[in-house]
Amino acid sequence: MELYIHIPFCIQKCKYCDFLSGPYDIEMRHAYTDALCREILSVKDEFFHEKLSSIYIGGGTPTWLEVAYMQQIMDTVHAVFDFADDCEVTMECNPGTAGLEAFRIYRDMGVNRLSIGLQSAHAEELECLGRIHTFEKFLRTFEAARKADFSNISVDIMSALPHQTPEKLIQTIQAVTRIRPEHISCYALMIEEGTEFYDLYHEDVVRRDKGLDTLDLPDSDMEYRLYKIAQKELEDRRYHRYEISNFCQEGKECRHNIGYWKRIPYLGVGVGAASLLKEVRYSNERDIYEYIKKIGNRQSVHVSEEPISKQEAMEEYMYLGLRMTDGITRDEFFKEFHITVEAVFGSVLEKLEKKKMIRQYGGRIFLTDTGMDISNQVLSEFIV
Ligand code: SF4
Repeated sequence: MELYIHIPFCIQKCKYCDFLSGPYDIEMRHAYTDALCREILSVKDEFFHEKLSSIYIGGGTPTWLEVAYMQQIMDTVHAVFDFADDCEVTMECNPGTAGLEAFRIYRDMGVNRLSIGLQSAHAEELECLGRIHTFEKFLRTFEAARKADFSNISVDIMSALPHQTPEKLIQTIQAVTRIRPEHISCYALMIEEGTEFYDLYHEDVVRRDKGLDTLDLPDSDMEYRLYKIAQKELEDRRYHRYEISNFCQEGKECRHNIGYWKRIPYLGVGVGAASLLKEVRYSNERDIYEYIKKIGNRQSVHVSEEPISKQEAMEEYMYLGLRMTDGITRDEFFKEFHITVEAVFGSVLEKLEKKKMIRQYGGRIFLTDTGMDISNQVLSEFIV
């Protein structure tokens, strides 16, 4: 089983961010930590000694939470669960929110992987995104993490930023790969409703959807070009792609995310966290005040419980599993669902193979490069 812990605190809200996060005061951080620990303890009877294959502490900015509070959370996790010997424990971090001393304490807590949000090496792009840091600050954070013995670090960068040119994206990739993080995620900027960017740019999105010229955001052709450039530049620098937007050095794939794409059961704790347990999907309360209040009143924080039918589980298995470049195997599908993949998706597979969107080889089914390029379209074929 995997564990996800949500820490919803950030110094300030980035303009594109639609995650459950925000700048809260110290009283709130204290109250939330207590509530979160109580939620973890509340599952003790159900999961005592359950072995965790990975833990992901995400947010928000977990490294902005006081180290003592993080210690309290990790002590609680240790009191309830067992850790597999090779348990991957990732913590998300933003540049400038932790230094050498904090990193050493995180290491002592058992954190063995960091995921640092950089997004761009260009000051004007960082400013445009509403990020709190500069590239130099990122470098100092990265260096401190290395000094504290973190030998597994991921860096997030973004494509399809306003005004982004191929040259600028290449410069960001060059600057990041020069310091050789083990893993790089490269996602395209999405303009989500409810964000500051949505208000700023939704006119552009509307115009783009109508096929008209846009002002600031790359159009779909440029977006595609940037995506292909990122892939090529990263692969040229010996980062192999193992998922649509994720690249890494040999053997440094993110185990937690692979677990998610393989539908390994996961428990999510904290405000807004989701869980997938015994083919039921749970969602936690999304309002932080309500979350704390419910925990205080010993009420459940689940706001939805959605049983997943076998058909839905098989569809999800395909469209999540095929995000990975290795794809899925026939044997594993059969082991999971006691039916062959052909019996369920035979006609879809045949159609996609004819269009050269997927390949079947050695018991594996995976997307071709062309299939990866239009993955949303291809993967939607598996949903009835
Ligand atoms: S640092 Fe991440 S979680 Fe926090 S506001 Fe920015 S994008 Fe959102």
